[in-house]
Amino acid sequence: MKTLIELKNVSKEYHTGNHIVKAANQLNFTIDKGELVVILGPSGSGKSTLLNLLGGLDKVTSGEIIIDGENITNFSDKKLTQHRAKEIGFIFQFYNLIPNLTACENIEIINDIVDGNIDGKEILSQVGLSQHANKFPSELSGGEQQRVSIARAIAKKPKMLLCDEPTGALDSNTGRIIIELLINLCKNENTTVIIVTHNSEFAKVADKVIHIKNGEVESIETNENPQPVDAINW
Ligand code: ADP
Repeated sequence: MKTLIELKNVSKEYHTGNHIVKAANQLNFTIDKGELVVILGPSGSGKSTLLNLLGGLDKVTSGEIIIDGENITNFSDKKLTQHRAKEIGFIFQFYNLIPNLTACENIEIINDIVDGNIDGKEILSQVGLSQHANKFPSELSGGEQQRVSIARAIAKKPKMLLCDEPTGALDSNTGRIIIELLINLCKNENTTVIIVTHNSEFAKVADKVIHIKNGEVESIETNENPQPVDAINW
């Protein structure tokens, strides 16, 4: 597999008063194209910081992040915004849909950002929701809303999907559907999917598991035989 992401001695410090928090401390690892990666760690270990750095939402204090051969730590703010808009899909715990737009409009709004010609209905059919295209988020279940947010994230065919506790607000059956969808995106579209979670059960389905503790990589496991989604105990 080809490397998509490489972190070289990446650190991120936050200064609060006269106190320094090392939220990321000398991180070094690679992630391949089409890989399903689970980043595991307890609350406060630096998972969100890492996701924000990977997504270009925050800047490193030191070190380099190389994505598809480009050093994004040297990007100007404008270039970083363009990179984020084109190459990265974000999926959050609470869906982040726009309440006064329908499911279809929530996806087609991407066209304003990437100057594209995305057909919302077609993308919704990929997540099994074409019949709900004209519904507003409040008319959809939590799982359906998360599927719309996945549809929105994949509409622009991003190189990577960054998912922050994507099933955190869902029941187990719905969570299973969402994880299966993410697994299939890796397999069928060669999208790199990175899931940040505190739930160690997700490690079972990952190609790679990165354990984070106190802002440091504690260990990295590679799963030669990732298990199917049904192996997860919710
Ligand atoms: P996790 O996502 O694993 O819960 P975070 O990345 O949110 O961990 O936080 C890692 C550490 O960095 C924590 O100690 C947190 O308090 C601190 N931190 C995160 N963001 C900020 C910030 N904007 N300012 C100051 N400290 C922060």
